[in-house]
Amino acid sequence: MNAKILKKKKTIALVAHDNRKKDMIEWVSWNWQELAHHSLICTGTTGKLVTEAINAKAIENDVIPPDISCLKSGPLGGDQQLGALISEGKIDMLIFFWDPMQAQPHDVDVKALLRISTVYNIPTALNRSTADFIISSKLFHQEYSPILKDYSTYIKRDVEL
Ligand code: PGA
Repeated sequence: MNAKILKKKKTIALVAHDNRKKDMIEWVSWNWQELAHHSLICTGTTGKLVTEAINAKAIENDVIPPDISCLKSGPLGGDQQLGALISEGKIDMLIFFWDPMQAQPHDVDVKALLRISTVYNIPTALNRSTADFIISSKLFHQEYSPILKDYSTYIKRDVEL
């Protein structure tokens, strides 16, 4: 598998389940200046709230708000869109505040997203404290090459027909 370099400017995916959206808004509001240096891509409803929160901060501080892309809402395919983007090397890290106390209609999509973020070894925060550690890591501010497992043997395997 080709080595991917996470550039200084990163593409960060943000997702929060409904019971964790307040956490996400607090987190982005606290870290908005840092996040504004990067590209943000979110599932639909999370993205709407994140955009409102970051825009409010930008207006308050008289700076141009960053571009934030919104995909479909998670249960309507947004998590799968993120998974596809990760597999294409277009997302560098995932901040996903998931709800451990409630089954989701799209639990299988959630599992798939977490699986693919592990396959591609992108930094993945599943709670606020990990997100705090990631954003305050010195690696967050520099280029970084995640070590990717070599799947070539798997790809070239003989399949009995
Ligand atoms: P949402 O999706 O941001 O559209 O609410 C989040 C999720 O994956 O559940």
